[in-house]
Amino acid sequence: MSTQQSITILCPECGTESDVMIQDIVNGQDLVTKTAFLEERLNDAQCVRCQTNITPTVPILYYDLERETAFVLAPPESSLDASTQNAIVQSLTNVLINDLPANQRKSYLFAPTRFNTFETMVEAILESEGITAEKRQLQAEKAQLIETFLTSPDEATFQKNIEQYDTELDYDFFELFTSYIQSAQMTGDDARAQMLFALREHLAKSSSQGQIAVAQLDAKMSEAVAKRQENLLEQMREARNNEQRERLIADNYELLDFSFFELVTAKIDEAAQAGDSETANMLKALRSNIVFLKAEYEKKTKAALEKGEELFKQILQSTTPDQVIKKNLAGIDESFFFVLGANIERARKQGQDEPAQAMEKIGQVAVALLQEKQPANA
Ligand SMILES: [Zn+2]
Repeated sequence: MSTQQSITILCPECGTESDVMIQDIVNGQDLVTKTAFLEERLNDAQCVRCQTNITPTVPILYYDLERETAFVLAPPESSLDASTQNAIVQSLTNVLINDLPANQRKSYLFAPTRFNTFETMVEAILESEGITAEKRQLQAEKAQLIETFLTSPDEATFQKNIEQYDTELDYDFFELFTSYIQSAQMTGDDARAQMLFALREHLAKSSSQGQIAVAQLDAKMSEAVAKRQENLLEQMREARNNEQRERLIADNYELLDFSFFELVTAKIDEAAQAGDSETANMLKALRSNIVFLKAEYEKKTKAALEKGEELFKQILQSTTPDQVIKKNLAGIDESFFFVLGANIERARKQGQDEPAQAMEKIGQVAVALLQEKQPANA
């Protein structure tokens, strides 16, 4: 689930108020949001006037249904007084609870553990995943080693390093390496993901423990995916209406692959063989419904992206971008900002700072114009 809302922040530098979108509920199973939160960039925002980076210190609720944890970050340095803060924490909890199907409303969700600092909360999240301080230290060492391979100037050095560090190229090493690949995939950096994947294969083949470790990791990963797919199917069954199912599809789109539908079919066969035709029929109807909603979702995202891309191109090619934005204000939506964000990111990675800054400027103008358009009491 992703919950977004607009809040007004005050710039500490110039005193200007900016309306920004923030997310204050983080689903630990939603890796994109979770990673953004752990890397402290979930609610990054900029002052519309002087572009100062501002990260609003709002209470954030983090929950993980699989690990059965609920944490809330309620920083004391937030500008809110204690009673307001308590009320916000309470309302976040309520929003989450109301949003979950009845059978998932477990007691731990009603009383999330509170943390005063980001660091202590991150530590608790990692601990709950079995990542202890000791393991983090080990990871830091493995990360250093990965860096050594990433920066090997030539094949000879690469092979020499493999010989030298062979005993350290173990399961933990390849586990961390694999998480780098996943992280690149999640941020949409396919080139980096492919480069890392090729490098991992190369390392695995040349080191003595590599191939076994990689095989184990891949097996574990598909097992984890299978478990998440089981969960998703359960949630789909519990969903009260299409609206809830649509959201499940949007949040878990990557899980709806061929193996997901194989799973549904297996469940249908299972029910049919057990003589439970009611369940079999219900699952068949659910399967058609999911296929339909998934196709609708794909159509919607594709159309929205194309529209955003089209508008983005128009603005970029225009000599008066402000005018184009003003004329198309209605089309400046999430998709537009997504396309813009992806292009800025790409430009930055390629070291094209000037185009990146120009595009950032476009974003700022768009936000400023959107705010102008909003009625004062919105
Ligand atoms: Zn400012």
